[in-house]
Amino acid sequence: MTSCQKNKVEINNISKSFEDLLIVDDITLNLNEKEFVTILGPSGSGKSTIFNIISGLMKPDDGNIYIEGEDYTSKTGRVSYMYQKDLLMPWKKIIDNVSLPLVLKGMDKKQARKKVADYFHIFGLDGFEYKYPHQLSGGMKQRAALLRTYMFSEDIILLDEPFGGLDAITKSKMQLWLLDILDKLEASIFFITHDVEEAIFLSDRIYILSERPANVKEEIIIDLPKPRHKDIVTTNKFNDIKKHILDIL
Ligand code: ADP
Ligand code: MG
Repeated sequence: MTSCQKNKVEINNISKSFEDLLIVDDITLNLNEKEFVTILGPSGSGKSTIFNIISGLMKPDDGNIYIEGEDYTSKTGRVSYMYQKDLLMPWKKIIDNVSLPLVLKGMDKKQARKKVADYFHIFGLDGFEYKYPHQLSGGMKQRAALLRTYMFSEDIILLDEPFGGLDAITKSKMQLWLLDILDKLEASIFFITHDVEEAIFLSDRIYILSERPANVKEEIIIDLPKPRHKDIVTTNKFNDIKKHILDIL
């Protein structure tokens, strides 16, 4: 996941209001190929709104989204998007929850099951194909939701606070797992969190957002060594970055 400078996504000067209340104020961001970029900001600042706009689900009042140089403003279907609280359907087996993106694209159920089954091992879900969501731990459910997101098969993935509901220990394990799996998947990632340590630990770059209306306060390059190990969070460099971010927020 070394970042090179090929631009995958450009978000140029987007603004969005809801009923005259300005939520997103002239935001410009970019994501390079195979880069992990986090949008870090307080709750209610407009982070999810930015993802809704990038994915094409929501139309910005101003500005444009370019993906690999092509105008994708208000156009869906080009990114894999795991939105906040992306829940599994409790009445469907895990394998069918995960197959959903393929079935939505028109593949028949049997074929879709066959295709997704190959990924259960890499996502740490071996043996849980025919279980129901309530039979899985919190971490496993999140891995299943991430696998479902991955089955949209796009090389650009938007993850909106995927570990927000997990306890600290499970969250830390999931972060390590995510970095490991991303190394294998060669995707470019936009990630949202309000957790400062999570942002530093995972990212190549972080955009710090202001309170509502969201604008970019600062862009920070995280040049900590990779692959990242858990003990990096106790290094002086990590703590200097953390202190700097907490001062801005
Ligand atoms: P964040 O993800 O940073 O917590 P959101 O983007 O979800 O913030 O929301 C930012 C603000 O925009 C909130 O005040 C929210 O109520 C408002 N908002 C988001 N989506 C809509 C919508 N579809 N209609 C009206 N208001 C919305
Ligand atoms: Mg949100």
